[in-house]
Amino acid sequence: MKKIQKRTMLCILLCLAFVLGIVFFLIRYTLNLNNWTRENYYAAIGYTPTTNLDIIMSVNGGSDKIYYTDDTKKEYYYVRGEISDRNGTALAVVNENGISYNASANTRIATLHAVGDRLSNISSGALRSLSDNFSRYTTVDGQRVAADNGNNVLLSIDASVNQIALYALSGYTGTVGVYNYKTGEILCMVSTPSFDPDNVPEDIETNPDYNGAYINRFFSSSFTPGSIMKVVTLEAAIDNIPDLFEQKFKCNGSYQIGNQIVRCTGKHGTIDVYDAFEHSCNSAFAQIALQLEQKTMSDNVRDANLTEPYTIDGKIHTSKGSFDFIGDTDYEFAWSCIGLHHDLVNPCNMMVYAGAVANGGSAAVPTLLNSVLSPTGELIKGVQTSYTKNLINQDTANKMKDLMLNNTKSSHYQASRFNVSIGAKTGTVDRADGGENGWFIGFVDDERYPYAFISYVEDCGSGVDLPADIAAYVLNALCF
Ligand SMILES: [Zn+2]
Repeated sequence: MKKIQKRTMLCILLCLAFVLGIVFFLIRYTLNLNNWTRENYYAAIGYTPTTNLDIIMSVNGGSDKIYYTDDTKKEYYYVRGEISDRNGTALAVVNENGISYNASANTRIATLHAVGDRLSNISSGALRSLSDNFSRYTTVDGQRVAADNGNNVLLSIDASVNQIALYALSGYTGTVGVYNYKTGEILCMVSTPSFDPDNVPEDIETNPDYNGAYINRFFSSSFTPGSIMKVVTLEAAIDNIPDLFEQKFKCNGSYQIGNQIVRCTGKHGTIDVYDAFEHSCNSAFAQIALQLEQKTMSDNVRDANLTEPYTIDGKIHTSKGSFDFIGDTDYEFAWSCIGLHHDLVNPCNMMVYAGAVANGGSAAVPTLLNSVLSPTGELIKGVQTSYTKNLINQDTANKMKDLMLNNTKSSHYQASRFNVSIGAKTGTVDRADGGENGWFIGFVDDERYPYAFISYVEDCGSGVDLPADIAAYVLNALCF
């Protein structure tokens, strides 16, 4: 009996010691909570920490611009990670030395707007927008040490295709984008002017050649669409003009509305809607516009999501488009339907719209993120596809697809440039300085390659020339 009493006492003592130990630990843990996670802790143990804030202050000469920040705008924790392209080619590594880019200058320049720069001037770069996927110190996970590599964030772009796009842009200002409208993966995204983040030009702020170099024109700008707008007007016409495909339109080089003249680029004679679309006849589209209500076009661009941003990977918001149909005179409304007047579209939104034409009315929302791998190579996160609402009625989308495919049958489109069958529409916009900005937009008509694309080049001449050439270079690299 006495023996059992002793054992019980021993057990109670052990339990008490255990509970006291826990209490002692919890008190110390709570008291030192900040020191566990902040540099004070390292100072206490005689270790000089290198936090992201330190990196920013040293590498950026004290700049207060924060890259790979969390939402607190103060990054005290370790962040380790790597940004690669879809094939695993390292584009940027973030470690205790700051950011190291790919060794090839061409790769750095071609992927700059996708990856981001050291000073976070390119706000939509992955260094910032996808930094949540890096490894960082947390109280739960524990300490990251300098030797840790961190997660590998794979982008959906192919760096070698980006290089081809950069080469094809041949020094012009513009943007090129291709994406998979079924998965949302952006396969190619280049914006120019670009620059080498390892050799930032000293005159980047003053040299007009670098005007807008910090802007990713694909996500963050809106431009006058010119005749690629006729795709949108065509949608409204198919939905609202019952005998559209029986109508004939006359073009003798211009079309008169009241006492004002809508000029055309040629004398197209008497044509149907197929020819009007293929020749991009302004006279015919003015006649189509006059059969549409202003509110119809206004609803149409809204439903096509050309006025509201897409949110890419939860962080990047594409630029809003804007249109001004309501209250236009007939003459102004005709020009709006032709893609001039006050129209502005974002290239990414317009590319998704082309994807919806190819895909029966809706398309995947673009993503720049392919996957996230742990330091040991395990898949942490894969492509997460989300779809747009129905941007276009399904029957209408299929008819539009036919017309865009019909365009490329004409010699004007020089479809032999492309390895694959495509549907497309050109656009050309007169500039105030006498030059022309060109567009080329469309989709690949091959179920192996469910791709939509957009190419926009400033001061380059007609859309069917350089912008289409660039699209051909890029698509031929992707579809083989
Ligand atoms: Zn015409």
